[in-house]
Amino acid sequence: MASNEKQTAQLDYEAAKGMEKEEAAFYYRGPLEEVAEGVIFSPTQGNCTAFVCDGAIFMVDTNPKWYARGTIQALRDQFSKAPVEAIAYTHGHIDHVTGAETYIEEAAASGSPRPRVIGHRDIGARFDRYRQMPGQNNFINRVQFNLPEGINAWNNVTWTYPDITYGDETVVTVGGQHFELHHSRGETDDETWVFAPGRRVLCTGDTFVWATPNAGNPYKVQRYAREWADALAEMASKRPLHLLPGHGPAMSGEERIQDALLSTSDFLRSIHDQVVAAMNEGKWLEDVIRQIDIPVSDKPWLRPIYDHPEFIARNVYRLYGGWYDGDPANMLPAHSYDIAGVLVEATGAEPILARARKLRDDGELQLACHLVDFVRKGEPENAEAWKLWGELFTKRAEKETSLMARGAFYTAISESERRLKELG
Ligand SMILES: [Zn+2]
Repeated sequence: MASNEKQTAQLDYEAAKGMEKEEAAFYYRGPLEEVAEGVIFSPTQGNCTAFVCDGAIFMVDTNPKWYARGTIQALRDQFSKAPVEAIAYTHGHIDHVTGAETYIEEAAASGSPRPRVIGHRDIGARFDRYRQMPGQNNFINRVQFNLPEGINAWNNVTWTYPDITYGDETVVTVGGQHFELHHSRGETDDETWVFAPGRRVLCTGDTFVWATPNAGNPYKVQRYAREWADALAEMASKRPLHLLPGHGPAMSGEERIQDALLSTSDFLRSIHDQVVAAMNEGKWLEDVIRQIDIPVSDKPWLRPIYDHPEFIARNVYRLYGGWYDGDPANMLPAHSYDIAGVLVEATGAEPILARARKLRDDGELQLACHLVDFVRKGEPENAEAWKLWGELFTKRAEKETSLMARGAFYTAISESERRLKELG
């Protein structure tokens, strides 16, 4: 797994090294830090937090499997030897929960009782799905994160199911201290955010990640923008002094945290409400996308470096609508390769490619890609089409800030290289 992680790191974690914490944003990683007395935060791809209580530790998340050992070691060396009594999951994603088995092994090795694991009642169904579909998750993550063939993280982790589940909210007591667990749907349907009222510390999970909320991920299952916005507002109502996000650095300061939570909430709500309004006007998806105004923000936590705001709008549409796009030809469609084949047969490839090159020269890369798509599909032996295809997506990847979008663009570039090699 360590080598898998290095491949992912090539993308942006490496680039973020040496940057200021906020500049590195989603990709910031650093050593364990004590953000408040007895609150030890580990900002490591899928952050986790250790609350050191009287003679026991309460963990919120665990890091992914490939980082948990390092976090435990640093926790023991620098902060506390108390046993981990309980672990709460913020949600069931691989980078947040798969370190749990390492904590359980550590407890067994030191003769401590097994930590109890707490999570929302829908986490189990998520783990069931991951165990049913490791191949699909490996495949889609290779595209999303531009990983090489052979990276199969989903085959190499253990899903530790919660011992205790809850529905809307619950309180966990460890070492005499109380922690509120609140459920909301957001990035996932199984989310928990944790508030420690004594210290006014908030663990948001992936509800806050120092980037445009990942509420639209084009590769993954449904997300819930409106409930996400509501959850952020409810978190703000607790007036936290410290915000510990699912990714990126800790944030301290009451006013700044209010701004972070509420501006992110407003951002999501604006996109959600605009999509709903357009759907109520009887608009199809592509016209909804064309109609809405994505809120503009210079907040460092709303930069579209991970997800893309347009994807959020698409995801809201998917939540409330079907897949039909309003084009009757697409209701029971022919295969896109067959459509492209007859078009290229009718016009010849060269006029289409010539027009695509003109569009490229005019900076209309989006339209150029659509045109070349007809030729690379309709005439798959056309090396000129594959060359132009690779060139266009190289240009687009250079300019694109959203990692989700870049993943697909990089896949196009790799495919172009592979085809050109085959064609000689
Ligand atoms: Zn995450």
